[in-house]
Amino acid sequence: MSSAPEALIQLRGVTKAYGQGQASFLALKGIDLDITRGEFVAVMGPSGSGKSTVMNLLGCLDVPTSGRYIFQGVPVEQLSRDQRAQLRRRHLGFVFQGFNLLARTSALENVELPLLYRGENAKSRRQAAQAALAQVGLEGWGHHTPAELSGGQQQRVAIARALVTRPTVLLADEPTGNLDSARSHEIMQLLWTLNGEHGITVLMVTHEPDMAAYAKRLVHFRDGLMEHDEPNPHPGGQGAI
Ligand code: ADP
Ligand code: MG
Repeated sequence: MSSAPEALIQLRGVTKAYGQGQASFLALKGIDLDITRGEFVAVMGPSGSGKSTVMNLLGCLDVPTSGRYIFQGVPVEQLSRDQRAQLRRRHLGFVFQGFNLLARTSALENVELPLLYRGENAKSRRQAAQAALAQVGLEGWGHHTPAELSGGQQQRVAIARALVTRPTVLLADEPTGNLDSARSHEIMQLLWTLNGEHGITVLMVTHEPDMAAYAKRLVHFRDGLMEHDEPNPHPGGQGAI
């Protein structure tokens, strides 16, 4: 007998309102979502449909207006701000469309940053950052600053920075939004490998069907609601093995 897959993330009736009173806007109107360990989910939908809002909630960057968020059995809304920050640092890695790297700082130091916040010593920071850069195919590039790297390479540095803490979940909000098609597919291949070979749960926002095609599950948002949620029968993208 196999046990039920472990629930990693559960959203129940989650709403999010921005602003107050008459100016208030309901960006999420009641989201129920279950994600189990090891999934690779693409979140799709038109601009303004609530994709980034739900990612920010999942990533503990923001809190719901109402509803429940349970992460590995822990009700996140009952945590203090510090406990939420700890959960974020321990379990969640982020990748954004704009890379968000420190400009005057080497790739290696950018990747070390989350470990600095954790209070790890210089030697273990350096070792872990070098390993993370190697994992994204940037061995030997650690001394370059972002300006000396291509967009695709910068996004790899950002992914290495997200991976260096060995997160349970990688949250990526339009990670290929600033990249050309070839570079986008390289990033998607990387996410595919991280999910398939390293078991990292990947949640990714994209509005490009070619990129969503890599994911194993497709979730569509519209006007603050989840419109469809379906498995992708042929994940891995076009031409993927
Ligand atoms: P998506 O990522 O799908 O494009 P968002 O989640 O960013 O959509 O936004 C959903 C809706 O909420 C949009 O109408 C947007 O204008 C609004 N919104 C997002 N963030 C804020 C905010 N900080 N203040 C007010 N409205 C916001
Ligand atoms: Mg968005």
